[in-house]
Amino acid sequence: MIPSSFTYKKASSVSDALAMLKEHGDEATLLAGGHSLIPALKLRLNDYGYLIDISKISELKSIDDKGDHIEIGAGVTHGEIVDSALLQSKVPFFSEAADLIGDVQVRNMGTIGGSIAHADPAADWPALLLAADATINIHNGSSSRSVAAADFFQGLFHTAVEEGEMITSISVPVSANAKTKYIKFMQPASRFAIVGCAVNLEMSGGTISSAKVAYAGVSATPFRDSAVEATLAGKSLDDATIEAAGNAAADSASIMSDHFASESYRKQMAKVYTKRALKALA
Ligand SMILES: Cc1cc2nc3c(=O)[nH]c(=O)nc-3n(C[C@H](O)[C@H](O)[C@H](O)COP(=O)(O)OP(=O)(O)OC[C@H]3O[C@@H](n4cnc5c(N)ncnc54)[C@H](O)[C@@H]3O)c2cc1C
Repeated sequence: MIPSSFTYKKASSVSDALAMLKEHGDEATLLAGGHSLIPALKLRLNDYGYLIDISKISELKSIDDKGDHIEIGAGVTHGEIVDSALLQSKVPFFSEAADLIGDVQVRNMGTIGGSIAHADPAADWPALLLAADATINIHNGSSSRSVAAADFFQGLFHTAVEEGEMITSISVPVSANAKTKYIKFMQPASRFAIVGCAVNLEMSGGTISSAKVAYAGVSATPFRDSAVEATLAGKSLDDATIEAAGNAAADSASIMSDHFASESYRKQMAKVYTKRALKALA
């Protein structure tokens, strides 16, 4: 449980961190909260000559109201998202979800940027970002690009971030007519999602005009379930709609199986947690 030796470097700004990444190439990686990277180094799953600490970069630490969206810095911790009055009022399922992550220490150290860069299949943020239709803002030192969450998560621990790039922020659309909920069936020790269900309903009066429903922990890659969304669109959120939506969940997904939950149990829990999330919004 001792990592290979590395050189620790502390970045003072985004451009400083990106210059260090450029200098050291694939020998270097970014260190944010360290709650995924340090265990991976200790288990010798990863090995880097240089760790570039970005945890004290103030540019990455803000949560800003931009009118039609909220911009969350990549270095914002889960705990800061729990406590954000702006997110509590405008994107409440983000604060709800953050409060379900790990324990106090994990929430105080772990960052949203680190979580989505790591892309653990059991992490909560990927499903939230998909259901929110969020955009991930990435910089490489000379230019920036924005990637839709739907294109960002590309596989097990695999994202659209390329060598020499860094996530700087996440843009989350806001809507006054949205109803949102995140609940999960969690691993009791770590609280990682065995099944996490993120629901974002756009309401028009009593009718669901559109639905985004995404899952964490179910597949190797987080996904939106178009069958569930189709069941909800154009309906009112009554018992029959909730039952039909829940029954449709995860039917066409490629579902994981491990020592916490078999494939069939995970699928059943996806249905149960979809119904629970929708009932909570009804
Ligand atoms: C005991 C325990 C329980 C946990 N429970 C949960 C849980 O319930 N739900 C959940 O979702 N997560 C959980 N986690 C994971 C936790 O949320 C981590 O914070 C998260 O996975 C990684 O964020 P970090 O800031 O610690 O990143 P780090 O560990 O520092 O970095 C992770 C990876 O992301 C890269 N990276 C970091 N920041 C950036 C950036 N801005 N741009 C590009 N790449 C970047 C790093 O180079 C590294 O490869 C748990 C972790 C622990 C240890």
